[in-house]
Amino acid sequence: MGLGSWVKKRAKKVGGAAKGAAKSVGRAAKAVGRGAKRAGATALDTTDTVLRAPGRALHGVPVVGRIADSIPSFRDPLAPVFESVVATNLAKAEALPVSDEHTELVRRYIETGGDDGTWLSRGLRAKPRFHRGGWILKTQPGAEAMTLDNDVFVRDGNLPIRRYVHELVHVGQYKVLGRTQFLTSYFGLSAATIAYRWMRRRPTVPMKSSPHEKSAYAIDERFCNWASSQTTSSGQAVDCS
Ligand SMILES: [Zn+2]
Repeated sequence: MGLGSWVKKRAKKVGGAAKGAAKSVGRAAKAVGRGAKRAGATALDTTDTVLRAPGRALHGVPVVGRIADSIPSFRDPLAPVFESVVATNLAKAEALPVSDEHTELVRRYIETGGDDGTWLSRGLRAKPRFHRGGWILKTQPGAEAMTLDNDVFVRDGNLPIRRYVHELVHVGQYKVLGRTQFLTSYFGLSAATIAYRWMRRRPTVPMKSSPHEKSAYAIDERFCNWASSQTTSSGQAVDCS
């Protein structure tokens, strides 16, 4: 129930004498609702609207993910843990510069049009930071990189173009889904389980069957098929191994 309708319902229960008051409270509540919408989905009744209409975008950003990320509560035990996981990984990592040829090739691929480009554009727009190291990869012995929203931790600093494209897709997926929704789907675990394991630095293994993982692999494959007929800005064949 929205704040406005709750206030109106309560006010009606007070009785006929309160009718006028209820009307003005209702009007005030509506105004609060309108203000909240302008402010950007932070007020109670806007949250309620979002829950009834999942997936509705606000200013181009899906509100469910954004709100889930912004409520550090018992409902989402992963939200507060996420920040500390990123911070403690950054403390054990160093910046990894991305080759200009990588970004230039991705931009050219985006220009060919198609759905892959929309995911890669989202990833590029987020201006992700790449890092060498981080403890998160120790919890995933089979992974060559791990994307934590805008921060991508790369094992050994080894970032070939295919991996760059793959992780950019994951960055884009975070933007659409929100952190918790992305990660629960990616690992096939509840938010509480991921939070528990990460706090203790225990393994969390990505599901290859996750739709987001499948999508990232499919896009890096299509990118490499396209890239096989391309040359880099310095005239070299693209190494998409
Ligand atoms: Zn992946």
